Amino acid sequence: MQSTKASVDSLFINQSQLGRESFRAALHTSIDSLLDQWQKDQGPYSGILPGKLAASVESLFQFQPSGESMESVLQDIKQHLLPHLVDVSHPKCLAHLHCPPLIPALAAEVMVSSFNQSMDSFDQSGIASLVEEEILKWLCAKFSYGNLADGTFTSGGTQSNYMGLLLARDAFCENTWQWNVQQKGLPSEAHRMRILCSKNAHFTVKKSASQIGLGEQAVVLVETDEHHRMDLNDLKKKLVELKEQDLLPFAVVATCGTTDFGSIDQVRDVYDIVKPYGLWIHADAAYGGALILSETYGCKLDGIELADSITIDFHKQFYQPISCGAFLLKDKRHFGLINYHADYLNPKEDELDGILHLVNKSVQTTRRFDALKLLLSLRLIGEEGFGDIIDHTIDFAKDVAALIERNDHLEVINPEPEINAVVFRFKGADDINKIIHRTLFKSGTAVIAKTVVDGQTCLKFTLLNPRTTITHIEEILSDIVDIGIAHIQSGRVLR
Ligand SMILES: *Cc1c(COP(=O)(O)O)cnc(C)c1O
Repeated sequence: MQSTKASVDSLFINQSQLGRESFRAALHTSIDSLLDQWQKDQGPYSGILPGKLAASVESLFQFQPSGESMESVLQDIKQHLLPHLVDVSHPKCLAHLHCPPLIPALAAEVMVSSFNQSMDSFDQSGIASLVEEEILKWLCAKFSYGNLADGTFTSGGTQSNYMGLLLARDAFCENTWQWNVQQKGLPSEAHRMRILCSKNAHFTVKKSASQIGLGEQAVVLVETDEHHRMDLNDLKKKLVELKEQDLLPFAVVATCGTTDFGSIDQVRDVYDIVKPYGLWIHADAAYGGALILSETYGCKLDGIELADSITIDFHKQFYQPISCGAFLLKDKRHFGLINYHADYLNPKEDELDGILHLVNKSVQTTRRFDALKLLLSLRLIGEEGFGDIIDHTIDFAKDVAALIERNDHLEVINPEPEINAVVFRFKGADDINKIIHRTLFKSGTAVIAKTVVDGQTCLKFTLLNPRTTITHIEEILSDIVDIGIAHIQSGRVLR
């Protein structure tokens, strides 16, 4: 590329007239394209399946050797990309724990990306490091963690769960055998180490177990009770069995908001049971953590402050654009188990001088300033405002469950939703539910989830969007019933 000064000035942020105008024009044009897309009166998805999207993808990959104008690129984006994205802000997009992002957080995203701070070291982030620390302090206080607590921002629940189990493993090896895993790798007895979690815990517990070298064999699944929570009697039983088998239970994951039902394990009871065994308690509150902001429903997280570490996801019920999560640690000294000093980045002498390098607490190095999104959102909406949104979605889920229960063609699996997920099914053959799910997606009128409960295919609404109304739900249910009945009448079977 022949990079004249002018072309470079139009490509990077700088003080010149050209630089400022290029920045403004690029952002304005892209915002206008988004507004045009959202102006269209359509469902949450175009309904097109992967096989038919190849032509659109091809149209996007027309590289001009010396580039082209923003307008021309955005023309293609408007025509071939935006119409085939899943519109997560649409009130009928109700499948996953995938939130419509808050507008203040989107404004923050522009600042986060434009300033492009990196949170690993102070000399790449300045005040951003202090802001992140302050938000973490605020979070620790919200979760009634004491003075010794600390945390780090993460890419989401997967990384937070991984960190919880990684630190639990290293702390156990240190305490049991004075064995430093960071230096020496796994001890020979590691194959006896066990992690307990309920059958409904997130799959990343197993995934983390395999990644930290213990293998999936290390995960012992505890039965669930009638509310889909960890069955406390079975937890006691499993602990006794493990001891009898000369195995080494070292951690238990309490899920505060399971993916299917939003069920919340009773952390206080779990604590009482595992305390004599000295287990590390990791609370996976990726979904339910936001309840801490609710006056009405915060009590559902009773005892979470007893956990040694907590997973929180801001890109779920805190309505932040992906990615944004946190890992909280009750005793910050455990971060020392994963600390490394690199001469070029975070030398030890800086620590002595009181200079903050957040890489010390993270499994990532280069890391985004996601904390700003949360700060702007909290300032704009207020904690009470957040609480009100969360309360509304939980109350709404109860209304939706009641509405489904009144429909003769449908049955609700969790008539009293713990948070805001409602699981239900069209009465009849399993296949019909699969067909309903696929047909709805292909029609583009609604995006809902499908899951399996006790071997049966079920449908699910995850009601995160406070703009979804009962009329939207009535329309989707009517579509579901129509598809189900039409299927029965046609006698078709899913292959
Ligand atoms: C979403 C979720 C995770 C995984 O979090 P990501 O942010 O997707 O990495 C883990 N646990 C629970 C309970 C979740 O809901």
